[in-house]
Amino acid sequence: MNAQEEQLLYGLKSELLGIMYECRPESVLHDDMNILAETLCKHLGAERIRFLLRLSAFETEEIAVLLKPPEIFSFIDDWDEMKHRLREDGRGVFVQIGEGAFPPYKTGILLRNGTRDPIGCILLDRISLAECPSAEWWEQFSLTVSQFLVKLFSFKSVCVKEIWNEKLLRVTMKIHSSMDIGEVLQEMVEFLKELYPAFSYHLLLSNDNDCGHLPVQLLNYNDLEALSMKAYVTGQVCMEEGKDGNTLYFPLKGKQGVYGILQIGNVRMERIPKMMVEFISILANTAGNAMENAHLYQQSNQLVRELKLVTKVSHQLNSRLSLDDRTHYMISQLKSSLRAEEAAFVLLKGKNPHVLQGSTPFFFGEESAFYLRFLQDHFSSNREPLFIGDFSEHQKDRRHRFLSLMAVPMEQEDEIWGFAVALHHEPYFFSFKTFKLFQTLTQHSSLAIANSLLREELEWLVITDYSTKLYNRNYLDQVLEKSMAEDLEGTFILIDIDNFKFVNDTYGHHVGDRVLIQLAGIIKDNLTDREISARWGGEELAIYMPGRSLRDGVLLAERIAKLAETHTDPKVTISCGVAYWNRKMKDDPLKLFRRADEALYDAKRKGKNRVIAYSG
Ligand code: GH3
Ligand code: MG
Ligand code: MG
Repeated sequence: MNAQEEQLLYGLKSELLGIMYECRPESVLHDDMNILAETLCKHLGAERIRFLLRLSAFETEEIAVLLKPPEIFSFIDDWDEMKHRLREDGRGVFVQIGEGAFPPYKTGILLRNGTRDPIGCILLDRISLAECPSAEWWEQFSLTVSQFLVKLFSFKSVCVKEIWNEKLLRVTMKIHSSMDIGEVLQEMVEFLKELYPAFSYHLLLSNDNDCGHLPVQLLNYNDLEALSMKAYVTGQVCMEEGKDGNTLYFPLKGKQGVYGILQIGNVRMERIPKMMVEFISILANTAGNAMENAHLYQQSNQLVRELKLVTKVSHQLNSRLSLDDRTHYMISQLKSSLRAEEAAFVLLKGKNPHVLQGSTPFFFGEESAFYLRFLQDHFSSNREPLFIGDFSEHQKDRRHRFLSLMAVPMEQEDEIWGFAVALHHEPYFFSFKTFKLFQTLTQHSSLAIANSLLREELEWLVITDYSTKLYNRNYLDQVLEKSMAEDLEGTFILIDIDNFKFVNDTYGHHVGDRVLIQLAGIIKDNLTDREISARWGGEELAIYMPGRSLRDGVLLAERIAKLAETHTDPKVTISCGVAYWNRKMKDDPLKLFRRADEALYDAKRKGKNRVIAYSG
């Protein structure tokens, strides 16, 4: 190289240094490249220039996609193929350009790095230098430009990575600080739209999430052939080629599973850069982890809410003792917590299901009979709870008002004694979570209801007479006591079977017992709700009529006496003593009883089979 050539090279090098010096991390590659093109044109006396760069020579292929170099730059994937279009002319760095290969360019200069491997080629429309430099000069020129390009690109790539990482960090932090799944996904999609605005974005999620206006679809679990499902099942990124470019499927992966798929379409690239895939994968996994956290957070919140509910329900159930109160309370809870339209507790003791008071009115109507029969049949042979999303699928033969049905058996010592049921007219209304909650609540309430049932049975045993099923004297005493404190008046009837000894002696004690039971039945059949009857002792029975007059008492006693004659076998007659009280009298239960007893004695004395009212 002569001094002039060296001067020329120095001039070029110093300008290239100037470009590098001016190059800022945030400046667009486009600008730097255009300056380079201008500089080279000026030095070589060309009007137009174009760069063909060998993609594999630049470790940072991302640059090609991300920094959008000007059109005069092309990245060539298959360099071997390029060799046919650029024929080396034996002068070292010069190439002849095949006819029509890259019009209007005719000349090319190979760019070689230090090991003389080509990293690309500069195409020029002409070269007009004052003096044609030597081959050695061109070698140096090629090396200088090659080194410059490699350095510029690697500098830019470091800058880009840094900017991306900074953005990624910011978005990741934002994503992780959110407990809202919609917000997490939105953050991810917006960030990607900023980076790759030409792509289209869709989210395929594994369950119904509330994600505002995001483009969310449900994953189609049935289509196992779909790549989206493949990505979901394998947790791997999948890609498919299509008319409108490639579609990529990124799993949103957490530690415990995959929560959905990020589908990116419209990816019009011949070669998908590895770094882009890695980058989006990091983002998708960050979102997956954040979704998992948000899920867990929502789940634990739900659990806490349910625990609170169960504790409240248990507490409330324990503070109520009667069966009616407990069922009423539970039904109102089932309606509000499960959003059930109809709910019932049903006993399965006798032949027919018995709906407990407090259940919703629907279950006392005729329409419920079908559902009750269906559930009775189910629980007679099965202890599995029922969770039905569309009842018409189960029972196709008729139309059903309620399509969602949940039913849980109530059992004790391995025996099913009833069930709880909840209904809603919409199909698939209850979620599986609701079903679980229903089971938990029923478990708690069934124990409380069983206790109430047992308690009421015991109470009944305590206050009734075993053989006649009438109340016992003790209970009647309490009722009398209460009525005399609260009511204005009342009438008491004492009944004694005539010549009962004779019945016993003639037919035996057991026949006597039967007659007593027959008489008790006659009495019960003739009482209103408020009137009560009791076994006063031996073969003496009593009736108390709160708020009723002496005349009412006499009429009732006479009716019973008449029925006794015709409806007992062997036939017996009865004698009755009737006594009355009201507020004006200074009275008490004992005095009232004594007056009735006196009247009864009178009836016996006067010939039995009659009713005598105490007349003082
Ligand atoms: P009177 O018409 O005067 O009432 O004659 P009576 O035979 O009914 O005499 P009284 O009322 O004094 O006798 C009651 C008899 O009723 C005595 C007892 O053997 C019988 N008795 C009392 N309780 C029962 C019972 O639970 N079952 C049976 N079979 N007999 C009873
Ligand atoms: Mg007697
Ligand atoms: Mg008697």
